Order: sequence, then C-alpha cells, then structure tokens
Amino acid sequence: MTITHNQGFPRIGARRELKRSVEAYWRGDIDRDELEQVGKTLRAHHWTLQAQAGLDLVPVGDFSWYDQVLDLSCLLGAIPSRFGHPGGEVNPDTVFGMARGYAHDGQPTAACQMTKWFDTNYHYLVPEFRSGQRFALSSSQLFEHVSEVQTLGYAAKPVILGPLSYLWLGKCTEGDFDRLELLDALLPVYGEILNRLGNQGVEWVQIDEPALVLDLPQAWKNAFESVYSRWQPDGVKRLLATYFGALGDNLDLACRLPVDGLHVDIARAPEQLDALLDRLPPYKVLSAGIVDGRNIWRTDLDRALARLERAHHRLGERLWLAPSCSLLHVPVDLATETGLTREIKRWLAFAVQKLDEINVLGRALDAGRDTVATALSEARAAIKARHCSTDVHRNTVRKRLTEVDDTLAQRNRPYPERAPLQRAWLKLPLFPTTTIGSFPQTPEIRATRRDYRLGAIDADEYQTRMRAQIADMVQRQEALDLDVLVHGEPERNDMVEYFAGLLDGFACTTNGWVQSYGSRCVKPPIIYGDVERPAPMTVEWIRFAQSCTDKPVKGMLTGPVTMLNWSFVRDDQPRARTCTQIALALRDEVLDLERAGIRIIQIDEAALREGLPLRRHEWQAYLDRAVHAFRLCAAGVADKTQIHTHMCYSEFNDIITAIAKMDADVITIETSRSDMKLLDVFEDFEYPNEIGPGVYDIHSPNVPGVDEIIRLMAKAARRIPVERLWVNPDCGLKTRDWPEVEKALKHMSEAAAQLRAMPPKPG
Ligand code: GLN
Ligand code: ZN
Repeated sequence: MTITHNQGFPRIGARRELKRSVEAYWRGDIDRDELEQVGKTLRAHHWTLQAQAGLDLVPVGDFSWYDQVLDLSCLLGAIPSRFGHPGGEVNPDTVFGMARGYAHDGQPTAACQMTKWFDTNYHYLVPEFRSGQRFALSSSQLFEHVSEVQTLGYAAKPVILGPLSYLWLGKCTEGDFDRLELLDALLPVYGEILNRLGNQGVEWVQIDEPALVLDLPQAWKNAFESVYSRWQPDGVKRLLATYFGALGDNLDLACRLPVDGLHVDIARAPEQLDALLDRLPPYKVLSAGIVDGRNIWRTDLDRALARLERAHHRLGERLWLAPSCSLLHVPVDLATETGLTREIKRWLAFAVQKLDEINVLGRALDAGRDTVATALSEARAAIKARHCSTDVHRNTVRKRLTEVDDTLAQRNRPYPERAPLQRAWLKLPLFPTTTIGSFPQTPEIRATRRDYRLGAIDADEYQTRMRAQIADMVQRQEALDLDVLVHGEPERNDMVEYFAGLLDGFACTTNGWVQSYGSRCVKPPIIYGDVERPAPMTVEWIRFAQSCTDKPVKGMLTGPVTMLNWSFVRDDQPRARTCTQIALALRDEVLDLERAGIRIIQIDEAALREGLPLRRHEWQAYLDRAVHAFRLCAAGVADKTQIHTHMCYSEFNDIITAIAKMDADVITIETSRSDMKLLDVFEDFEYPNEIGPGVYDIHSPNVPGVDEIIRLMAKAARRIPVERLWVNPDCGLKTRDWPEVEKALKHMSEAAAQLRAMPPKPG
C-alpha cells in the first residue's frame, strides 16, 4: 500500500483560534492552563482531520505557539543569554519572550530577529549562535505532542528541521566564526532527540533539509555528506525532506545521503522526478510532494497520476505521497470560506481539501483509477470549467497584451532631462520632505470601514466620513510644513487587498487566513483570471485630497510586482504574463491620476526583493521582468510628472542595478535602523536618480530628534548629492499613533529647514 503523509498542517485553526488565544494570553485575559487547553484541542482536531482523510502518518512538530524554528532553538537549548533563561525546561513564556523581546524576569530586551522563510511570506525567528555555543535538550514539547497523537491512536511522524538547514538559517551574533564548527556540539543533541522519539515507538522521523534546494558552498555540501554518514541513529528511520524547488546540483548528494527516504517537491519541480527515479538507491523510499503546498489551486489529478504511475511502476511501495511542503502556507479549509463565488471555490483546494487529494491519489495508485472515478471526474470537470471560464479569459486583456512593446516601458526623456522639468513644475525646496503614504489607522477610521462593509452606513455617508478624515490629514501635514503631501490611505485595510478588491481577475476571501508571523495572519488575494481595471480605484480620493491644498499631493498605488508576490497567483500561465496584466491595469490608474491633476505618483514595490528566486542563476530573469513590469506601469506619464517608488527592508547591494533600471524619479527606502549603512552600496554604484533614505524608524515608538535626523542626512549626503536627497520616514505610518507621528514629522521638517540653511558637505 502506498504510504500517504503530510508535511505539516496550518496551526492557526480554521477560525484563527490560535491567534485569538495567544493574544488573549498576552493581554492577561486567559491563563496558561486555558492557553494550553486551546493548543491541545486544536492539535487533536488537526490530527484527527488528517487521520480521517486517510493519511497513514500525521505530522508532529508543526504546532507552535509562535514559530517552529524558534521551537527548535528551544528544543536544542540555543537560547541567547540576554533572555536570562535559568536553564531547564522552556515554556511558552520563554518562547514569547524571545519572540517579543523580554527576558525571564520580564525586563525588555531585543527580540530575536525575524526573517522570511525561503521564498514564502512566512517569517521565522533567526537562530543566534556564538562561538563555543553549547546545545542541550531543553524542551519536551515535541515528545509530549507525540504522546498526544499516540493517545488518539494515530501514527506520529515527528518533523524537525535538520542540523544543516538549522545552522544555515541562523546567524553568528558573537564573534565571526564558521557555523559548521557547531556541528560537533549540535549532533549529539539531535541524536538524543531521535533516541527519545525511538523510545516512544516512533518509526519514521522527518528531517527537513530545505537548504538542499539552495546554492550551497562546497563546504556545506561536504558537511551534508559527513553529517549524515556520521549520524546513524538506531531504532528510527529518517525521511530527509526537501521542498520549495528542485534539488538541482544537489540531487546526487541528496540521493546519496544514507537516510531511509527522500521527500522531494514534485509540484514545483516535476522535471526532477525522472532523474530521481534513476539515481535513488534501491533501499530508499521516495516521497513525492505532488500536491502543491504553496498555492490554492485544485490539483490536476489526471496529470499528477500520469506522473505518479510511472514512479509507482518503478518503485512500488517505496513510493510515498504527500503535499510538496507544509500546508502552513495555505488557508485551512475551503468549507468555511464565504467570500468566493461557487464557481471559483470549485477550482480551489485549501489544506483540508489537499489532504483529500493525497488520499485519492494514493487509492488510485493502489487500487486503480476506477476506485476513485467520481473524485477524478469531479476534479477533471472543475479544471475544465476553470480552463474555459469567461471570467478567467478576457479577450480585451489578451488583445492588449499583444500590443505591449518596449516603447511603452520607456519614459520620453532620461532622468537628467526630466529632473529640471519636474523641479520647475513642482517648485520644491532642497531636501523636500514627504511621507510614505499611510497615516495612523485610528479606531474611527477602522470603524468607518467596518460600518460600510457591514452595510451600517451607505456609500454617501462613507464618502463623507472618509473625506473628513482626508481633509484632516491634509491639514495636519500643512501644519507640519511638509512639502509633498499624501491623502493618508484611510480607505485601505491593506495595500494589496485594497487593489485586489477593485481589479477584475482578483478574488478576495473572507476567511483565507495564512500565518505570516507569530499571531499575525494575512489573507492573500487570489489571482484567478486576466486582470483588468473596471474603473479608477484611487482617483477620487486623491483628487479630493489635492483639492484641500495647493501643495502637491502624491497619488499612491501598490506596484505590480508587489501585487503579484503577495497574492496566490494563477498557475495556468507564466507569472510574468500575470504581472504584465497587473502592470497595464495600474498604468491606466497612473494616467488617470495624472489627468486628474496629480503631479507626483508613488508606486510601492515593498515586495520586489522578496520575490527573488532561491537560486542565483534565476535572479536576472526575475529582475528583468520585475523592472519591466514596474516601468510599464509608470512610463506613460509626461516628463514633468514625478514617479516615486518605495521599498521596505531594502538591502540593495546585490540588486542595485535593477533598482536603478526601474528609473523611478525618486525612491524612498528604509535606512534609519541601519544608521544609513545601507547606503554604503552607493560608494561603488552611482545611483542616478533621487533618494529618500528613511530617517524615522516607524517600527518603534521612539521619536527621532532634530539633530539625529540632521546627522543621518549628513551621512547620506556623503554618498548622494544633496540636490537628489529627500527627507522621509522609513515606511508608512499606519501602525503608529498621531502624537508620536506629529512629533517625529515636526522634527523632520525642522531638520530639513536647518539642512537647507546649511547644506552638509559632500564626500
Ligand atoms: N504606501 C504604503 C504605506 O504607507 C507603503 C507600505 C509598505 O511599503 N509596506 O503604508
Ligand atoms: Zn515600506
């Protein structure tokens, strides 16, 4: 019989029970026992769902109060000393302290750093290592969860991140040393973990080594070889799991490692299956990650079976089935979704539905396609309907795409010729001040949006209230003496969802939550069809804001690459094509804004960098396409119209050429926390256009002083000529409150005034 299993189930709960209870615990509304009870109930429910869906092995280790990598650091006892962990068992408070920045005694301290998990929108907490780092088993959570599964009567398959991926994803905080030196200290603890699991009667342990889909230095490849040959546990079998892409040049290495099975991503990299069938040693299990754990489309079961039957023929019972990766990255259950049409729902599979797909595929292999004929024909019909749907395929969009040529992505004149025209039109001072777009989302603003959504107020009332908010924000900005104003984005719940809700081809869910980090969840929109803009999306708000002031108001849009990277993207055409469609729809918005008298338009590309492929050799193609999409969106305007873009968390060193090619007149970036160190890249690369390096860290409640801002700008002036510098915060201000914001912005304009009176020396 074909073994079916799962890599991980979304822990948040179909109604975000985990988020709610964790936040209630933080507020002090429930105690530890109540919190633990919610966790236990959720886990039992999820395991039961998976067992009832027919899976042979259910994953353990996917449940976490905050993040599974942080849990592993706790399991291994890698707890940085600033948290004052007294030794012994960690508990949820230790975990929350590390994630949220407080020590054992409750005193605030720096939280562990958070960063994106491979190319997903999930954030993990970065392990921290010092030289001479010790490890010791420090948590029994994993073992307790195994017992819970066993009590329920299911077969547990613990999943832990392997030693090399764990080290790869961590950072050295004290001293500069090679992380591989830590292996000697680390492996015995991994050994102990597997021993204990073996003693609990566990047969298979899944060791995740997603680092094997990355470009690895030779020393790391060697380390894989030596670690896995040295580390030979008795009693338990190891399934080495890779996901998020092809093994590529690591394929031979992965096949060779002396473990009992290998899990590979067949959804993203189906082409590797044949090579694997040829290279896999005859003693090993091959677990085919056939159902896409990263997207929400229903699996084409016929196509999947065609692939699997060949493998099944070769491997027999050595072929296992699973989703490509943990289902953490998709929403929980389509059945609880109310925001999508019946037709669209039919095309989708969330986590619960993906389990059924695995089950059907397994049965088809074991007992023949006839035994699951109904499921297969249902899937076939749904896929056909999607393929033929007139909601998906729009002739107008197709036709427009054929008309795209390079001239559309080209401004009339180059920046050096545009700049004087813009200066003459906008009449801005040296060191112009501006903000990134959003202002505090006050309870009043949220309530207005909610009332409108629930039908408690009508469209007229909504417009009246929102206009009052905008007028107030414009007036505050005038009082603060800022140079380029914004409307403040009160109508937007989220910079992607807002536009997704107004564009054809996008669908928004009401309950399609996916964990982003800790208790924070997002609802990525679904791009299911050709993208078209039925009507202007922002023009009336921005025009109104502009009518309240003589100063220029910036139009504010989310760029095509960010729209793409923060959505579930259709899989029936290349991503680049979808991105071009979005760019064209946004281009129309840009031009409508310009026609409405808006002189400056900002196109945010917050997520451009995070879309970089995992493999370096694919970067250039991605960047070329991203730059093209941005330019297509921006380049239709007159030369005197100024295009801004904004990027968060930007480390630019390795992509600066692409950023420059976007040819935005002004780019605003996050630099204050790095003390302008991010600008070092401009030492070797002369960025040709204007830059606003952030001087106000919006992630912190601290208000920067005037002198601090001047110091930061003087530092920036060493790299960038003063005529090309702007003064602005790091990012949007929606999460802050007005008193802080007003103080900080006041300091910003005072600093700008002083800088104008006495410009810093270059060089
Ligand atoms: N314009 C958006 C804002 O100010 C940009 C946010 C972002 O880049 N993350 O909120
Ligand atoms: Zn930002």
